[in-house]
Amino acid sequence: MRVLVTGGAGFIGSHVVVGALSAGFEVAVLDNFSSGKRANLPAGVQVFEADLRDRDATLRAVADFQPELVSHQAAQASVSVSMKDPRFDAEVNIIGGINLLDACTAAGSRVRQVVFASTGGAIYGEVPEGERASESFQLEPQSPYGISKLTFERLLAVYGDHRGLKSTVLRYANVYGPRQDPHGEAGVIAIFFDAALAGRNLTVFARRAVGDGGCVRDYVYVADVARANLRALTGELPHPVINVGSGRATTTLELAERILATTAARSSIEHGGVRAGDIGRSLLDVTRFEQTLGASTPLDGGLAETAEWYRAR
Ligand code: NAD
Repeated sequence: MRVLVTGGAGFIGSHVVVGALSAGFEVAVLDNFSSGKRANLPAGVQVFEADLRDRDATLRAVADFQPELVSHQAAQASVSVSMKDPRFDAEVNIIGGINLLDACTAAGSRVRQVVFASTGGAIYGEVPEGERASESFQLEPQSPYGISKLTFERLLAVYGDHRGLKSTVLRYANVYGPRQDPHGEAGVIAIFFDAALAGRNLTVFARRAVGDGGCVRDYVYVADVARANLRALTGELPHPVINVGSGRATTTLELAERILATTAARSSIEHGGVRAGDIGRSLLDVTRFEQTLGASTPLDGGLAETAEWYRAR
């Protein structure tokens, strides 16, 4: 069976590629290498170096490789970039996404299942104290990025109804693990590991006032995300939309303390102010995930594996 992974050279996509190869699939990657790296790709994977915004190149890649399954991980993946440049976000995540869907439903296409990397953080908005966002929680994206992810989810439904394309939407919590880029705009775990191992201080931005524990997040290990993707690709998940998270609430301060303990670093924790646009509390209801995929990796276990990777780098 052939799987095309868009964004396969990126952090999460590369784990999907590795998982798909070990499951015995024939794998190709479509990536423009804007944030992805060739070094993330195992040897022998076919690469289509193409930008999703280039409609002809996208149609050509799908027509050449003839995948049955498509894992759509490529995206403009930064909330803050989307705030600064909403048009660019829409061009990649919506127009680029439409090019991919048209390629998947073009005459002669063999694609029968698309799995989409959506977001469980930016799509639900603020999750009140004491609550978790299930898949039917209010959809209140507060950034162009959240809006473009929601728009693509809706487009998938339309392509399903009118062109018979099957799909599964995976709404990721905050993903962490090996190969996450600490120099990007997001990924506090990567940023903290990078700082701790270089002996720099870790900054905890406030949730409401300087010195509080910072924002609350649901951190999920990338191996769990790759696992969910593989099951979704083979059509084994019984839900069209599924949260991919741990369901555990962690403040940025707790995270900083755990990373300092894991690395035995001597860095200190500094406290910064509230950052505009940050959601204060984001936490997923992972009942569907646990029923279909079992327990997620405990944070300490995932952090230990991640620490090993950053040390070896
Ligand atoms: P990443 O930046 O490491 O990976 C994105 C990949 O897409 C890169 O390889 C990049 O080169 C490629 N890409 C970007 N624009 C492209 C374009 N126009 N054409 C072709 N390729 C393009 O990011 P990631 O963290 O691995 O995220 C993967 C997916 O998961 C994204 O869709 C992101 O929105 C989603 N997501 C990530 C998180 C997280 O915590 N990392 C959370 C929720 C959702």
